[in-house]
Amino acid sequence: MTTGRSLQLARDTLQKKRTVHIRTLLDVMLLCNIDYEYFGKLVVPYDFEHSIRVSKNQNTLKNTGCMAPWCAFFQKTESIVPTGTKTKRHSDGSLFRNYVACTACGCRFAFNIEGNMVEQDWFIRGYNTLKNLLNEQGGIKTLQEIRRPANFNRDRWWGVIAYFSSRPVFGDPEKLDEGLMAAFVQYININANMNNVYKWKCWNSYRHYLQYRYHFEVMNALVFSKRKVPVRHNIKTYEEEVISLCSRLLDSDQDISVEKISTLINVSSNTLRAWGFQHYIKGMKDEQRRSRLKKRKKQLIEKVDLYFRQNANHRILSKDIYQSIGISQTYLNVIAPDVNEYIRKKKLQFSRI
Ligand SMILES: [Zn+2]
Repeated sequence: MTTGRSLQLARDTLQKKRTVHIRTLLDVMLLCNIDYEYFGKLVVPYDFEHSIRVSKNQNTLKNTGCMAPWCAFFQKTESIVPTGTKTKRHSDGSLFRNYVACTACGCRFAFNIEGNMVEQDWFIRGYNTLKNLLNEQGGIKTLQEIRRPANFNRDRWWGVIAYFSSRPVFGDPEKLDEGLMAAFVQYININANMNNVYKWKCWNSYRHYLQYRYHFEVMNALVFSKRKVPVRHNIKTYEEEVISLCSRLLDSDQDISVEKISTLINVSSNTLRAWGFQHYIKGMKDEQRRSRLKKRKKQLIEKVDLYFRQNANHRILSKDIYQSIGISQTYLNVIAPDVNEYIRKKKLQFSRI
């Protein structure tokens, strides 16, 4: 009988009620070199008995950080949130409690009967395996080229490859379709699970689906889905605050950035990132950039029109137009080629008159 099983027996946490076989007892007595008479007189100190019977895991949750070596929050606790699963028994009979997930890397952990935090997926094992294989086998270009090791079943291995191919851990991450990603995340937010997503017609293959399934945005959406996380209410309040703040900054044309939002709502930028808010903030920042560019283009076109009106009786040279609007043709070609085109057509029209 293993130590883990003995502890489960002592704590009465085994799924099936079991008794200790006399053989186990005799083995222990032989190992410790004690006879039956001595064994009968043994008095177990209460403190020891208590320490065995009460699981240690009640106090460890607060003090344990993410275990994934590639995670930005490795050995830190800020990114760890409860998933809502309290207790679960695995098919091999082992019992886990207090499931948590890291919102930075997406790994899930739970506490075993000894109170130790254990990885629930295979990403850390996958990481170590990939690291070794890449060291051993030079010249491999993509993770997909690596042959599946015997100790991983097909789905686990494909999961590991999908997980790491969307993260900058072993080289550059693969680019995924943003629209498809947004649809996946939205589906989870509405349905609080991902039933049937793999049946969507858009997937070229099961592996194609897995790449999105193990992207951190999808993994985070699952952690924060309504069904699972009680702390969502807390985060939800902040989420609403971030949304209304971004819209106010956009309206008043003040710069939007994670750092600025972090100062305004008094939550560290790392925590904002751990909650996954940086994607929304970045989206709003892009929106701000687009709206500023639109405004600038409008102003440039007004300036161009004004220049042509004011010089109706003169010969107009390109360099003079650009000088008057205060921007070089080359730069304009990068930020707004359509304004360049507008100037070209305008000049052509003008010369025909
Ligand atoms: Zn992590």
